[in-house]
Amino acid sequence: MSALLIKGATAYAAGTGPRGHAGDVVVVDGVVSDLQASDAPGDAEVIDADGLILLPGFVDLHTHLREPGREDAETISSGSRAAAVGGFTAVLAMANTSPVTDTAEAAERILDLGVACGLVDVQPIGAVTHGLEGEQLAELGLMHRSRAAVRVFSDDGRCLQDARVMRRALEYIRSFGGVISQHSQDSSLAGPSACCHEGELSGRLGLPGWPAAAESVIIARDAQLAQHTGSRVHVAHVSTAEGVEVVRWAKARGIAMTAEVTPHHLALTTERLTAYDPVFKVNPPLRPLEDVLALRAGLADGTIDAVATDHAPHARHDKEHAFVDAAFGMLGLETALSVVAATMLGDGFGWADVARVMATAPAAIAGLAGHGRDIAPGEPANLVLVDPAASVTVDAAASQSLSRNNPWHGMAFAAAVHTTILRGRVTASQRKVRA
Ligand SMILES: [Zn+2]
Repeated sequence: MSALLIKGATAYAAGTGPRGHAGDVVVVDGVVSDLQASDAPGDAEVIDADGLILLPGFVDLHTHLREPGREDAETISSGSRAAAVGGFTAVLAMANTSPVTDTAEAAERILDLGVACGLVDVQPIGAVTHGLEGEQLAELGLMHRSRAAVRVFSDDGRCLQDARVMRRALEYIRSFGGVISQHSQDSSLAGPSACCHEGELSGRLGLPGWPAAAESVIIARDAQLAQHTGSRVHVAHVSTAEGVEVVRWAKARGIAMTAEVTPHHLALTTERLTAYDPVFKVNPPLRPLEDVLALRAGLADGTIDAVATDHAPHARHDKEHAFVDAAFGMLGLETALSVVAATMLGDGFGWADVARVMATAPAAIAGLAGHGRDIAPGEPANLVLVDPAASVTVDAAASQSLSRNNPWHGMAFAAAVHTTILRGRVTASQRKVRA
């Protein structure tokens, strides 16, 4: 028997009110128990959590772990370590690896590598199309029926451009309650070199423009296809006010559409590109302040369901180039909570809302039954303790990731993850991983 006594934290879950629930929590054999602290087993590990916030462990709908294929940038092991430090108890691994996760065997291999690391539940995302080529459907049913039980499918890295293929994929996954996570980017409006929000600044900087409409036209099309097929679409990394408006429109009509926003799109604006630092090159690109504010409002009012990191590690030799030639993407697992707290807390958005957007909603979208639960007797103890008064400065060199493309380096944050607990076992504490 293993036991844990969490003393003095204030617990919040998606349903709790703004004041949370103060008290001790006893965990026995990976499950939250109904024991009082005084009845905790004598050999229980005690965590002094006075002043800390207790939340359901975070779930990331959008993680690039790079294994197989680019183990120089990240592995399932190093990504799991970064996730544990960041407060995550489950991550969904994107399919754009090499080879692509487009078969049952490939999905099971990702699952098994995650289990072997044991720090976070690694749930593979399956590709929608063979090789991410956008033409032939991948083994959607076989991936779902495999041990990996894939429910989320995505060609992320690329947008599924062909409406007919998207329609067929939606029809196919409807039978088992799957969902397609779409990277919304109309390639005829924003091609592969588009790397700066299209506007006055892209003209001044001389960078290829990525117009907001390239995102919103795909979201609108997919909303119509979701309605037509009666199937589910999830909008990956929505980045524009127009995109949020379309999602709001779809939800008002009862269309089964959900959406995520990244921490970086909640916090950083296009202005970051003026120094041409490739660490700020990401797809979709950073947007102007009015979009950032629309994203925050959309997350607060529930139009956007979840925060997802789009953690995208890159080796130095792929990232340290002239801006137009550098790879897209930035790290995000270890800093997500701090950025969300800095940009969202206050004005009616509290810790229960953090639990909703970082744990409960993403777990529900992904169909992960053991995650994002209330902190109540009988529930699996997938938990995170947050220090709301941590005062940390991000040091890229201290990251668990194998990569260093960290846009938050040198920035100070007022809240940070303290301890992460997976099924009653501490996986990380104060930025150190526990084997
Ligand atoms: Zn993407």
